[in-house]
Amino acid sequence: MSTRYLQVAGHDVSGDHYIDGQRIPGKTRFELHCPIDQRLLGTISEGDEEHIEAAIQAAQRAFATWSLLSAAERLPYLERFADEIGKRAEALCAVESNDAGVLLSRMRHGVVPRAKLNITWFARHALELQHRPIDTDQAHHIVKHDPAGVTVIITPWNSPLMLSTWKLGPALAAGNTCILKPPEWAPLTCSLLADAAHAAGLPPGVFNVVQGTGARTGARLVSDFRISRISFTGSVPTAKLIAQSAAANLVPCSLELGGKSPFIVLEDADLDSAAATATLMYRNAGQVCLAGTRLLVHKNVVDQFVIKMRALVDQLVVGDPRDEATEVGPIIHPRQVERVKGFVDRAVACGARLLWGGQPHSFGPQYFQPTLVTDVAQDDEIIQNEVFGPVLTLQTFSSDDEVVSKANGTDYGLGGICYGETSHAQAIAERVRTGFIWVNSFGIRDLAAPFGGIKRSGIGREGGDWSFEFFCDVKDVVIPKKPFRASFSHR
Ligand code: NAD
Repeated sequence: MSTRYLQVAGHDVSGDHYIDGQRIPGKTRFELHCPIDQRLLGTISEGDEEHIEAAIQAAQRAFATWSLLSAAERLPYLERFADEIGKRAEALCAVESNDAGVLLSRMRHGVVPRAKLNITWFARHALELQHRPIDTDQAHHIVKHDPAGVTVIITPWNSPLMLSTWKLGPALAAGNTCILKPPEWAPLTCSLLADAAHAAGLPPGVFNVVQGTGARTGARLVSDFRISRISFTGSVPTAKLIAQSAAANLVPCSLELGGKSPFIVLEDADLDSAAATATLMYRNAGQVCLAGTRLLVHKNVVDQFVIKMRALVDQLVVGDPRDEATEVGPIIHPRQVERVKGFVDRAVACGARLLWGGQPHSFGPQYFQPTLVTDVAQDDEIIQNEVFGPVLTLQTFSSDDEVVSKANGTDYGLGGICYGETSHAQAIAERVRTGFIWVNSFGIRDLAAPFGGIKRSGIGREGGDWSFEFFCDVKDVVIPKKPFRASFSHR
């Protein structure tokens, strides 16, 4: 059977698996629709037992040689991989705009350059990881970062290219072989990544893509005893299922999950900057895990803040993500639109008040108005659960202790944002229980810095050395400094 290509914005994209260096079509297929207008983009192979078995075996075979290369020997392969990603920049931008609804402008200026960097940065960083000696009176310890083995990578639909490369970069640089299971609602840029890897000459089996749904293909992959690592980004309920499968085989898993991050505006904040940044939370139609979706604004400045933010929200351009001028695009799937609307409707039915938005947007059925909900209590559903749409909540506070208590008052702990006089904002930021928090800023990411959540927002950290700690087996090779004489008194 030959591979089937989907035609997306003039680009050919395979809807099939990529296993052992070859395109493999599936026997069963599922439909892929465009989030912009729900038109059918084509069909995608569903990975079944046969494909999963082939991918695991290919990854195991490839591991035998890829893992033996030094980081310096892997570097040229990965640099070529990044180059090939760069050569496909236009296709990647157009395709992810069409299958995930991500803004074309964001793909061009943010995601694709970052995807390349995700590969090259970790490949170069791996050169520094080889030996970190520990010297004691007794012995010289050579601490090695050995590749762990076959790694399963599972990513969500809201940023598939960025998140897949963010995991693939360190996993491959560390010497692992990978099986990527893309999100079924936005699987196409992961398929283009396979083309890039192929053109770069990555040895067969080093990087495999098995397409499919989470419940079937994903669940089968993560339950395999031959897997050495599972790196997952997605929702809390899925993470619980994956953690159970991983536990059954004692496989380490890294879980990057949802968020309900506080956006704190202190009385001494620069309200213009705070309002401008708060408006950014509608980016990607709010389908961003690290967005500060709970606005917590000091009661003495809340009226001014709301007026300033309203003026900016009124200017937001909601529309087709393929138009460079668009600032807020579509919601990925009709089911997700319903989910977002459900949260808002239930909040209003319980007494919440809409300051703006609250309805599907006139641009089309896949679009939802940027929304701000207030008069909400801390234990309300809309405060406690991730909406994952263009919906923010507004609460007020009158003291530092109150805002810290409200900020920490959910089961999530991914990120946060705090606006205020710098030392004041920093002091509050340090009391907020999350994996990261931005002071008077938002979205500054450095590949060397740790990224991840606490509480229900995840387990583990990605970025810099933290990625390598996860994707490697750290081994201590102990060389005694004096001749060793065996004795039962030794401990
Ligand atoms: P999801 O959990 O439904 O799906 C994520 C991936 O898991 C998909 O590829 C899916 O096919 C797969 N999957 C589903 N069921 C599975 C199973 N039983 N076994 C194995 N794999 C399975 O999440 P989603 O709706 O695609 O993504 C949105 C979620 O992702 C939000 O909660 C968002 O906050 C979170 N997210 C977190 C981060 C982060 O870095 N913390 C980044 C982006 C998105």
